[in-house]
Amino acid sequence: MDLEKSGFVQSYGGGCLCRQVTYVVTGKPVFQFNCHCRDCQRSTGCGYAPVMFFKRDALKVLGALTHYTIRGGSGHTISRGFCSSCGAQVVGDAAMAEGLISVRAGTLDNPDLFTPKANVFASQAAKWAAMDPGLPAFDRWPPGT
Ligand SMILES: [Zn+2]
Ligand SMILES: [Zn+2]
Repeated sequence: MDLEKSGFVQSYGGGCLCRQVTYVVTGKPVFQFNCHCRDCQRSTGCGYAPVMFFKRDALKVLGALTHYTIRGGSGHTISRGFCSSCGAQVVGDAAMAEGLISVRAGTLDNPDLFTPKANVFASQAAKWAAMDPGLPAFDRWPPGT
């Protein structure tokens, strides 16, 4: 059954640590994967980042974000939006992924709604980071992307 065609529109809610910033997304993720790149390791302090990309206009943020922009490992800029009160990252806006915006699965109200489809940048994965062997792993991006 195609849930979207059947009229069931999936939505996701989430927010920061202190809940002064919340978001709602209507629609399905365009991509969702575990990213093992060094940028994700450094920006999270974790082994990898569980990331979901949505169409930009599907995501509505409530509350004040402070953005920091840096040039990522790809050479393209990425602007990360953090809660202005607690400093938790809420959104990521990569120039590379035009028209899309990302959130990390741990910020979802229900993190179980995240269903990763791949491990990307597996070539940069930390030895100690758990990687789901049931998912395809790509050195960088999957071919064709
Ligand atoms: Zn906050
Ligand atoms: Zn990454």
